[in-house]
Amino acid sequence: VRQAVNLNWRELPLGKLLQERFQRPIYLANDCQVSALGEYTFGTPTGNQNLILIKAGRGIGAGIVINGQLFHGENAGAGEIGHIQVEPNGEICRCGNRGCLETVASTRALIQHSPDTIDDFEDLLKAYHAGNPKVVALVEYAAQAISETVKYLASILNIQHIHLAGNLSHFGNEVLEIIRSNLQSGVLPALAESTRVDMAALGDDIVILGAASLVLKNELGLL
Ligand SMILES: [Zn+2]
Repeated sequence: VRQAVNLNWRELPLGKLLQERFQRPIYLANDCQVSALGEYTFGTPTGNQNLILIKAGRGIGAGIVINGQLFHGENAGAGEIGHIQVEPNGEICRCGNRGCLETVASTRALIQHSPDTIDDFEDLLKAYHAGNPKVVALVEYAAQAISETVKYLASILNIQHIHLAGNLSHFGNEVLEIIRSNLQSGVLPALAESTRVDMAALGDDIVILGAASLVLKNELGLL
């Protein structure tokens, strides 16, 4: 693991440490990457071998499945959209840069920018669904910021199915509609027409199911 911002890990030989401890084959991928594979494997079939899954919660990232295989990238960093700068003069991020997507749209950022009475995700969600104007504005702004990165993903990869997961999905259809509408007006119309953004079929177990699918695929060749 080169760097895991939210866990404060740098240059950690996690695979080697786990291998020594458990004496079993070890596969490493981040939560967003395995979630994409989980959604591809166990979610509603799309009839397509490609899928992007965006997971936003404590951190934000995308997992990319191409031709039925998880795409890790050359340094296992594919899909690190959480650290794309969305506010050049924004807050300092835990990664050291300024104005990353995570500084406006992660659960931590949403709670931090909310009124003082809100100090966990459950409170935030209640306030959002109760129509608290400050919280609604924060969530809408977060959805706008996420949609900027969705435009890049859709345009660069031309993958037709993009699914949303993590805490983000609990905010419901308004968030989905903001992202869909920004995509329609913000990328080549022919691409936008053929790209669908939906909520992930898998719920809060998506990471566990994704990790299971990684093992089933790599170790047992079952998928
Ligand atoms: Zn960052």
